[in-house]
Amino acid sequence: MYSLEKAFQVGPLRLLKRMNSKNACKTCAVGMGGMKGGMVNEAGHWPEVCKKSLQAQVADMIGALPADYFDKYSLAELEKLTPKQAEDAGRLSYPVVLDKGATHFKPITWEAALNHIESALKSTTPDRTAFYSSGRSSNEAAFLLQAFARVYGTNNVMNCSYYCHQASGVALKMAFGTGTATVELEDLTRCDLVVLLGANPASNHPRLMTQLANLRARGGRIIVVNPVRESPLESFHVPSQIKSLFFGTKIASTYIQPLPGGDVAFLVGVLKSLIEKRRVDNEFIDNNAEGAAEVLNYARNSDWSDLVTNSGTTKEEMEECADIIYDSKRTIFAWAMGLTHHASGVDNVLAVCNLAIATGNVGKPGAGLLPIRGHSNVQGIGSVGVAPALQDSVRQSLETIYGTKITDAPGLDTHAMIDACGKGDLDFLFALGGNLWGSNPDSNWAKESMARAKTIVYLSTKLNPGHFHGKGETTVILPVLARDEEPQATTQESMFNFIRLSEGGKPNIQGQMRAEAEVICDIANRVLGKTPFDWTSLRDYRKVREIISKTIPGWQEIGTIDDTKKEFTITGRVYHTPRFNTTSGKALMHPTPLPDPIKGGLALITLRSEGQFNTVVYDEYDFYRGMPHRFCILMSEKDAQGLNLKDGQSVAVRGEAGRMENIEVVIGKIRQGAVAMFYPECNILIKANIDARSKTPAFKSAPVWIEV
Ligand code: SF4
Repeated sequence: MYSLEKAFQVGPLRLLKRMNSKNACKTCAVGMGGMKGGMVNEAGHWPEVCKKSLQAQVADMIGALPADYFDKYSLAELEKLTPKQAEDAGRLSYPVVLDKGATHFKPITWEAALNHIESALKSTTPDRTAFYSSGRSSNEAAFLLQAFARVYGTNNVMNCSYYCHQASGVALKMAFGTGTATVELEDLTRCDLVVLLGANPASNHPRLMTQLANLRARGGRIIVVNPVRESPLESFHVPSQIKSLFFGTKIASTYIQPLPGGDVAFLVGVLKSLIEKRRVDNEFIDNNAEGAAEVLNYARNSDWSDLVTNSGTTKEEMEECADIIYDSKRTIFAWAMGLTHHASGVDNVLAVCNLAIATGNVGKPGAGLLPIRGHSNVQGIGSVGVAPALQDSVRQSLETIYGTKITDAPGLDTHAMIDACGKGDLDFLFALGGNLWGSNPDSNWAKESMARAKTIVYLSTKLNPGHFHGKGETTVILPVLARDEEPQATTQESMFNFIRLSEGGKPNIQGQMRAEAEVICDIANRVLGKTPFDWTSLRDYRKVREIISKTIPGWQEIGTIDDTKKEFTITGRVYHTPRFNTTSGKALMHPTPLPDPIKGGLALITLRSEGQFNTVVYDEYDFYRGMPHRFCILMSEKDAQGLNLKDGQSVAVRGEAGRMENIEVVIGKIRQGAVAMFYPECNILIKANIDARSKTPAFKSAPVWIEV
């Protein structure tokens, strides 16, 4: 029904043609589409499509913003738009600028916009500039962005994963030498157990649910670890399987609801149980791992009562999970931001790595580690260098190719970048897609900080509240083409390390939209000139792929993909043998001390609803959780009784950074001590409590207080 409604919004045949086009899905990183055809996954299975992919495609096909839109609505009015209202306003089809002190954005020519950007970059120093990318951009545009920034002279280059999966990258690199999944899609058909932590793929990665349903259908088991008892993780209806469609498929065989922030204690408890029952895979450890003694001793000497208190789970639950993992032949540990959005995010993921190593569940087919990544190319943009630090080999290659020395001065991460704005240390900020302001904790701090930057430039397909709240003295918004509108083929990397080739296509709407990569080449040409390197030559994406193939380890095949049309898995990422990309070739185990529990209040978890993807809101109701709108707080029966609150009652919620009024109480299946609200609206409550290693804020364990 929903699909038909959406189809008639833009024309069923038009939509079907777009969905069938050979372009990678624009939404999540599970990865569909590309040369295998639209709605086809890496294993070649068709149809693989979901509501999220439809929502993103239809959103790019709705009409353009009216020509008088910015005359009609003042900045003050635009600041009142909800994420959904901004999204539904229409496609950006002409450049606009908000001049210093102006009350309205106004249309501007591309020439004038590029002139402004050129003079802004030429009138400051590279260390006072920063370049950011969301995960929807292509590998080509992302590579050019980081290369231009570096040749221009700064390492202030970061991407949206600093606020989502950076902890996964840091921990996996510490344990195995590579920062991404150690499995491929097919491994989900080979495993007999999935431990799913801090994730709700039914809302954010729907086709992953098909893999989980298939696992249960072949007799496998699934342990879900999540403070919220998500109904689709209990039973899910797979649209492409008749029986499941009508009767549902049982997903979780075991459901554990720890306290937010209780993951390390829970995982150390599971390891402790394995040790006590002499079920650790010592042979695997002896042959393939280092650092085990300290980790095993820590678990062995941990007190069960501390583990129970800190995790909020029972000894019996930890023992049950240990038994299930022990009985499994091939286990995949999969997680999302429920693990990474903590001040102990890196330790949470290291504790998962320790458990996988201690049970020999890595380095063989059907077993390993799977961070469930967000945006469709968030992994790719990181892989091609959109990060503050570059591998030495990559920097040296860039120096050779671009004929210039590249600074090795440390670069800013996302939070540090906003902080630098606030201190008046940044004049220029360039954002490739995304809603940078909205993704920040402490929304008022982020707004005030960004307002101190002289120039902020956004390359976007549609409006979002970040354009109006994340503005500088001067703000320029440039309309760009979507993935299936690109004049040339582009590439994307899935969460399974698989590179897709998207054929592009004709624009969905008339307008002045340009290709992101071409805009970056034009700016580079204007600012850096044609010597020693002619940036305009890189308007040909094949040349960009040639350079990527010579620069980024494991990406050689991208250099010939235009001729071979052969999509590929990046080499050195998927481990089917226990030889890892570490100095010794062995996996490295790391101690994970119990984090301090949250002090005071209830523990707030920020959620994405079924009707949104990251900060983009398509529908304001949450189909699975029964949360009728965006300003709700999900609370347990026990906490509501304790606070003498009723379902539907309106309350105020106070956090360490702000306060929200008129929040509706929704009593639901969330564990006692935890409450949940929707991201990004509730970020205004959250103070930036940052993980020192991942630089990721604690969006999933922030103290809040309910006021009536
Ligand atoms: S699961 Fe992800 S990649 Fe697959 S169709 Fe849905 S949004 Fe696209």
